[in-house]
Amino acid sequence: MRIDLHTHSTVSDGTDSPAALVELAAAAGLDVVGLTDHDSTLGWDEAAASAQRMGIALVRGVELSARMAGRSVHILSYLHDRSDPGLNAESAQVRDSRVTRAERMVQRLAADYPIDWQAVVAQTAPGTTIGRPHIADALVAAGVSPNRSAAFASLLAPGGPYYVRHYATPAAQMVRLIRNAGGVPVLAHPGAKSRGNPVDDDDIVHMCEAGLAGLEVRHRDNPPEERARLERLAERLNLLVTGSSDYHGTGKPNRLGENLTDAPTLNAILAQGAAPLV
Ligand code: AMP
Ligand code: FE
Ligand code: FE
Ligand code: ZN
Repeated sequence: MRIDLHTHSTVSDGTDSPAALVELAAAAGLDVVGLTDHDSTLGWDEAAASAQRMGIALVRGVELSARMAGRSVHILSYLHDRSDPGLNAESAQVRDSRVTRAERMVQRLAADYPIDWQAVVAQTAPGTTIGRPHIADALVAAGVSPNRSAAFASLLAPGGPYYVRHYATPAAQMVRLIRNAGGVPVLAHPGAKSRGNPVDDDDIVHMCEAGLAGLEVRHRDNPPEERARLERLAERLNLLVTGSSDYHGTGKPNRLGENLTDAPTLNAILAQGAAPLV
């Protein structure tokens, strides 16, 4: 079984539509794919119809923006009830703040570069969860940056003059909201250094006490020494261990199926989640 539980479509900052993403997952030889757009479940129905056509299984999920000890952390929720009012209200607040924040960043950039809000909106489909990748795309279209990664490394980097933070839910609260909605919360790329320091043991313990189900250990942004730490911690705290690509289409080098989750772990996620595999 080839199972990849973390991907993005044009509903957030991926470059394939939800239907096309599932087709590519089938072509990559995956048996199960998880769709986890940032802060949005808008792609679920289109992806489910595509999965049925392609004969592969879909795990419906979302990657939620949270904050822990002043740092940005991402929490995957699998198989929650999409109509849950608590989680939906919180997600809406994050998405709204993402828009305000992106507008502020564009305002700052516009003082020095040929970019405006319309150019950023032109890079998104209606309803897209907006983020720095779309500002990057507008900078690329304007000839300011050669590609997304270059824009991230320079103009869009945290700590730089153009960077603005957005509201994100406190991580333990987010874990509780996910559980209340029947979802299975898994901490995404906990060893990544791109967003400051890796999430430390104490903070993971704190999320675990709130109901965290697992850690995404096999992810390209977790270096080997971090994976070893996270494996040990998962064993100590009795957390599930997942592996995923975090595929973003042409927006990032990550390839579908480059990291995988094993079948017993998927079964444990299915047993804990409110919604079925489709
Ligand atoms: P934001 O959530 O708006 O602050 O933007 C962060 C998002 O940008 C993450 O979810 C990543 O998927 C994406 N991202 C981060 N670094 C890069 C990069 N070097 N190239 C392309 N996308 C990136
Ligand atoms: Fe992303
Ligand atoms: Fe992430
Ligand atoms: Zn992701």
